[in-house]
Amino acid sequence: MCATDHGGQHHPIAVAVDDTAGPSAPPSREMIEELVSANHILFDQGVVDAFGHISVRHDKRPDRFLLARNMAPSQVTAEDIVEFTLDGEAVNAGGRKVYLERFIHAEIFRRRTDVAAIVHSHSHSIVPLSVVKGMRLRAMFHMAGFVGQGAPVFEIREAGGDATDLLISNGHLGRALAENFDGHDIVLMRGHGSTVVGGSIKQAVYRAVYAELNARYQLQAMQLGEVTYLTEGESRSCVAHIEAQVHRPWEMWLEQARARRR
Ligand code: MN
Repeated sequence: MCATDHGGQHHPIAVAVDDTAGPSAPPSREMIEELVSANHILFDQGVVDAFGHISVRHDKRPDRFLLARNMAPSQVTAEDIVEFTLDGEAVNAGGRKVYLERFIHAEIFRRRTDVAAIVHSHSHSIVPLSVVKGMRLRAMFHMAGFVGQGAPVFEIREAGGDATDLLISNGHLGRALAENFDGHDIVLMRGHGSTVVGGSIKQAVYRAVYAELNARYQLQAMQLGEVTYLTEGESRSCVAHIEAQVHRPWEMWLEQARARRR
């Protein structure tokens, strides 16, 4: 999230909400633990800092998802995971503050039934590519085929006018963002960051890490000359073959994140 209060807007970046729907069958313990690990990895890999978040669809209730309460990802524990409805309403927050931008997750899970996990971040090399006219993040190396032939850039002014704080702070903005995911697994958000989706927590984390790397390499390569990008066929082939191995970096990143937390 980015916190600004210009333009006459003063909504807080974290809000306490009432639990409006009852809790469902508890999600699997393994899923919670994996979500906690994902928070730590994303911080350790530099994808998120104090802001940014990852969610997972509830394994027993596809109309629910799990997301940490409002806090820095590096500090998340299993006790901090909160269940939400697809309207972005907390089920068991118990008065704890939740992320204002939970509507990103709610509306993408609603629209993309194939998506199991979502990462929203402001990772450093992505932001420049979100603000230059005519510029698109585009797959330019084999680890980032999922980026495809040009990631859409969500322009919040089209849905929210020209004086928002750029945050996806309600269902209306969440739905406008989610529409960009038809046929795409990563969407840049102008002047803000990006959101990436996957079929599992591990895949979403993998994509968030390699989207940042693709952006960094693209910025570097563009300074040297004309860039040769992956073709659509190469992109698809790389996704099919390389993303079958997302468990390999996951284990390494997890070990590294744990070592550095000690
Ligand atoms: Mn944000």
